Amino acid sequence: MAKFYCKKCNYRFESNSENLPMLCPYCGEKGVIKKEESAEQMVE
Ligand SMILES: [Zn+2]
Repeated sequence: MAKFYCKKCNYRFESNSENLPMLCPYCGEKGVIKKEESAEQMVE
C-alpha cells in the first residue's frame, strides 16, 4: 500500500498502486496528488 495526499484539500488516502492517481478522490482536482513518504518527513 502506498500513501498519498492531496495538496489542495489535504485529504489523505491509500492505494494499492504505486502510481500517482490523477484525480483527488475527495475534491476531484487534477494533478494535486503527492506521495506521502512518512508522517515526520514530508519531502517537497
Ligand atoms: Zn483534494
